[in-house]
Amino acid sequence: MDDVFLDIIRFIRKVYGTQGVIPLHEPRFIGNEKEYVAGVIDSTFVSSVAGKVEEFEKAVAKYTGSRYAVAVVNGTAALHLAMILAGVRSGDEVITQSLTFVATANAIRYTGANPVFIDISEKTLSLDPEKLEFFLKKNSTVKLENGKKVCYNRLTGRRIVACVPVHTFGHPALIDELMQICDQYGIAVIEDAAESLGSLYKGKHTGTLGLMGVLSFNGNKIITTGSGGMILTQDKDIAIRAKHLSTQAKINHQWEYIHDEVGYNYRMTGLQAALGLAQMENVDYFVRRKRALFYQYKEFFDKIKDVEIFEEPQFARSNYWLNVILLENLKFRDNFLKLSHTQGIMTRPAWRPLHLLDIYKDCQRMDLTVTEQYYSRMVCLPSSVVV
Ligand SMILES: *Cc1c(COP(=O)(O)O)cnc(C)c1O
Repeated sequence: MDDVFLDIIRFIRKVYGTQGVIPLHEPRFIGNEKEYVAGVIDSTFVSSVAGKVEEFEKAVAKYTGSRYAVAVVNGTAALHLAMILAGVRSGDEVITQSLTFVATANAIRYTGANPVFIDISEKTLSLDPEKLEFFLKKNSTVKLENGKKVCYNRLTGRRIVACVPVHTFGHPALIDELMQICDQYGIAVIEDAAESLGSLYKGKHTGTLGLMGVLSFNGNKIITTGSGGMILTQDKDIAIRAKHLSTQAKINHQWEYIHDEVGYNYRMTGLQAALGLAQMENVDYFVRRKRALFYQYKEFFDKIKDVEIFEEPQFARSNYWLNVILLENLKFRDNFLKLSHTQGIMTRPAWRPLHLLDIYKDCQRMDLTVTEQYYSRMVCLPSSVVV
């Protein structure tokens, strides 16, 4: 297998045209970034007062087809606010996947709620609708309270308020199926679209289908604001509340400081928004280049027995944020990780599944066979845009 691994490494070097270190994912600043950021510095409105944040929100709303978009300091904060806005309270439960970045579960925990882990689908690497339905049928009851469906976990007696599918590595989840099941049980869907800007589900942008969707503009995502995030929603009241909560819940007044609830200092800054506006001008180009990179990888891996590359399902157009290969088993995975790192190529395994971390090991979960098997076989390949 080592020969095959060396071939893969040679191929990655050819793609990126360098003998130096190849990172997993680096940002590309090939447009108006410097000009726009300098413009904000010159204006002195570096925080959130000037119009840059609204401009950036409009640009992302337009691109994603979302009615509303509220920019915040990072994707984790966006997830935290989304939980609060979906009505998640201390002692509630929120369903999500174990195969995700830790921020998904942390945001649930910030509210005092408990994550519940459901297995993923091999087709999407996101929540498996059939397994979700199986879990809810077996473990929950729905009660009508004030004319609204409220789902209770029969084992714990807690409310199951929300469900957070992740568009893992940029690949769209089976949103229609997941939404249909959640609707039936009175559970709100919050899409963790942190990785999937530019990815479409049946022609619609990921993050615009659930009650809310959350984007991240961290330095390793497809576009970046240094650090940043956004809540997408089609619901005007939620959008207004999101902005209110993200700005210390301050009431509009010409001079007085009046706050009507305990808010957060989560608003994005003008500097971040300016960088984001320049990045958004190239987002279509980035998606095109990333898809081209996937096809380059695919052509190569199609000729290699025993190594599979993950491909978008038919209903989706993925942004291919990170390209993922599946090796035969854990031993091969670790050998390849070791070899590529000694050669200066920053490959990565998938995140350690959250139910295997000490901080989340006591959470309720169903059988997570696919999660564990895929984790032990997956390697993420360098996926920066090749300009
Ligand atoms: C990056 C990421 C986040 C968090 O975004 P930050 O902007 O880094 O806070 C949340 N969920 C997933 C799946 C992510 O990849």
